[in-house]
Amino acid sequence: MALKLYGCVCGHLDSAAASMGVAGERVRAPMPFYVIDHPKGLTLFDCGLHEGMTDPDERYRRLLAKQDMNVELPPDETPAARMEALDFDPAAVKQVVLSHLHFDHAGGLHRFPNATVVVQKREWEAGFDDEVAARYGLPKAYFDLGHKVKTIDGEHDLFGDGSVTCLPSYGHTPGHQSLRVRTEDSDHILTSDACYFCDVVRSRSFPAFADKAAMNQALDGLLGLMEPDTVMVFGHDPDQWGDAPVLPTRRA
Ligand SMILES: [Zn+2]
Repeated sequence: MALKLYGCVCGHLDSAAASMGVAGERVRAPMPFYVIDHPKGLTLFDCGLHEGMTDPDERYRRLLAKQDMNVELPPDETPAARMEALDFDPAAVKQVVLSHLHFDHAGGLHRFPNATVVVQKREWEAGFDDEVAARYGLPKAYFDLGHKVKTIDGEHDLFGDGSVTCLPSYGHTPGHQSLRVRTEDSDHILTSDACYFCDVVRSRSFPAFADKAAMNQALDGLLGLMEPDTVMVFGHDPDQWGDAPVLPTRRA
């Protein structure tokens, strides 16, 4: 069986465009995570939002709403619902690679109790440093759940076969990482929040809390890895989802 890559949108975040560094009034950003069906085990890159966020009164959702960041999470878009729609059992997920520890990337961990979390060492340490975690908004309640954790340091070949590679892209958070996924006939770089939107490649408009110099360098690094057929999948770009998704959202 060859490797297969799928994309799942787990809710949206409606906020002032300026807060995400784009032009216009408001932006309604999709919050994707990715499913890698690999012969050595079902793997996720990021895992979406906490299921509790379907409730407008969920604690963190209310906190975000006060900052004009409005989470939309219909019941059929939760991490588990998305996995089941793809006919995958959430309990069968062996690894969750986390790009970083923000709520919209690590929030769904509670639905994958059997998975080993694969994360950059410096990101995991940031999550447990109260001062750094507060500065970058890394909510421990979502990721400190007793999973088996494998910390890595820099570039990492996930399966030892060159198909899936963790690419450090620090700056959005202290230990942010992106992921390259090669299948037999495609090559994708999943930037996650190293680049929210396609437009950011040009604008270099990064979020206020981020280390902008590091983000610039990280984005240059990812762009330098592009081959003629490489597709870049950005962290929250509405143009890559909706009616014409950049990745399959259904099993063939
Ligand atoms: Zn983020």
